[in-house]
Amino acid sequence: MEAYYWNKELETIDQASLEDLQLKLLRDTVQAALKTPFYRNRLKKAGINSGDDIRSLQDLQRIPFTTKDDLREGYPTGLLAVDLAEVVRIHTSSGTTGTPTVIYHTKEDLDNWTELVCRCIVATGATREDVFQNTMSYGLFTGGLGLHYGAERLGMTVIPVGSGNTRRQIQLMKDFKTTVIHATPSYMLHIYSKLNEFKIPLNELFLKKAYLGAEPYSENTRRKIEEFFHIDVYNSYGLSEMNGPGVSFECIHKCGMHTWEDSYLLEIIDPKTTRTLSEEHEGEIVLTNLRRRATPLLRYRTRDLAFIHKGKCKCKRTHRRLSRITGRTDDMLIINGVNVYPSQIEEVIMRIPQVGTNYQICLEKDGTLDKIIVKVEIYSKLFTGDIRQLDTLKAKINEELRAAIIISPIVELHEPGSLPVSEGKAKRVVDSRTKL
Ligand code: ADP
Ligand code: ZN
Repeated sequence: MEAYYWNKELETIDQASLEDLQLKLLRDTVQAALKTPFYRNRLKKAGINSGDDIRSLQDLQRIPFTTKDDLREGYPTGLLAVDLAEVVRIHTSSGTTGTPTVIYHTKEDLDNWTELVCRCIVATGATREDVFQNTMSYGLFTGGLGLHYGAERLGMTVIPVGSGNTRRQIQLMKDFKTTVIHATPSYMLHIYSKLNEFKIPLNELFLKKAYLGAEPYSENTRRKIEEFFHIDVYNSYGLSEMNGPGVSFECIHKCGMHTWEDSYLLEIIDPKTTRTLSEEHEGEIVLTNLRRRATPLLRYRTRDLAFIHKGKCKCKRTHRRLSRITGRTDDMLIINGVNVYPSQIEEVIMRIPQVGTNYQICLEKDGTLDKIIVKVEIYSKLFTGDIRQLDTLKAKINEELRAAIIISPIVELHEPGSLPVSEGKAKRVVDSRTKL
């Protein structure tokens, strides 16, 4: 293994060879997908009866999209493309937006996934010398086992602690000198607030890097976590429908997440018209899994919003880089007719130094109107207990939010540690407006 790449040949593949490989794999994937009743029906309607009907990568456009609803309707085996005896593992999504979806894996599928995770870890400069603590939940959720196998194959020392029990997490970090941690951004912030609460100084930890993903977070949150812990934070993107983590990951340059294009066909579309968008235009991410045989998915609409960065990365990896995910097409809030993404709110509050590690957005009815209450925890180290100071802070947050989202929220300040924390993905929005 070369120090800086896990698989130099594929990570630095030139465009022409990449496209040749993608075409071959796309044909194989279509052929595999045709084994499922769902795709046989869908693809036949589009005039595709065999993998050979895909003559060039342009033919991708002939393939219909697959949606989360398709997966739900196909539950449990409608999209299974191999004999159940070939399946060695089942994963499901975490069900943030409804019934979970199921994905089957063969042994080769898991091997390929693990290979991609190894590439991601190596791209951040981590090595087998590192001690890796995985705080993502193990089980059907892909965040735990996904990273676990990659870290283990690379030869890191893995602590498979799983989610929750922050006191124990911190103890393990101290005892085993954890250098790399995998967490959700909200949990990472929670760990920080607990360090303060338990009065554990930072120099008792050995942390160097954090891989944060599974939920949206802003550049300001990244910066905040990096400053709090004196570490490097790398953005990690994945979804169970595309295996899980390991789809897109930042390299040491932290300028967008390399998406492994020898394993995933990456498209960005306008979610309304479904027209393909060019680089630097934000839209919905659409992914085709090129190597998975048990559950091949073609042109899967992720509902996640991002854009593709232009130009080449200094690391010489040729795989294109995805921007930070700004939200999901389905997490947009409509507040008195104004469209607001929770990420816009996060971006504003996390750049204010006096804001601590947790926040919540509550929506309520006030007569016929909507009312938005933004609850933020204050950062204890910067708070002296002066009431005037609190009023000024409240006004400042209100003003900055109003500038960003047009509507004026009610801002509530809360003591550190008083807002609810979730051990998996954070639930930032509490919408108690009754829908008519
Ligand atoms: P669910 O769709 O039920 O949440 P998953 O567990 O598969 O199921 O989660 C995948 C989703 O998590 C992605 O589609 C995306 O919305 C979100 N996600 C994952 N990583 C990131 C990230 N780095 N930034 C923002 N959102 C992310
Ligand atoms: Zn790079």
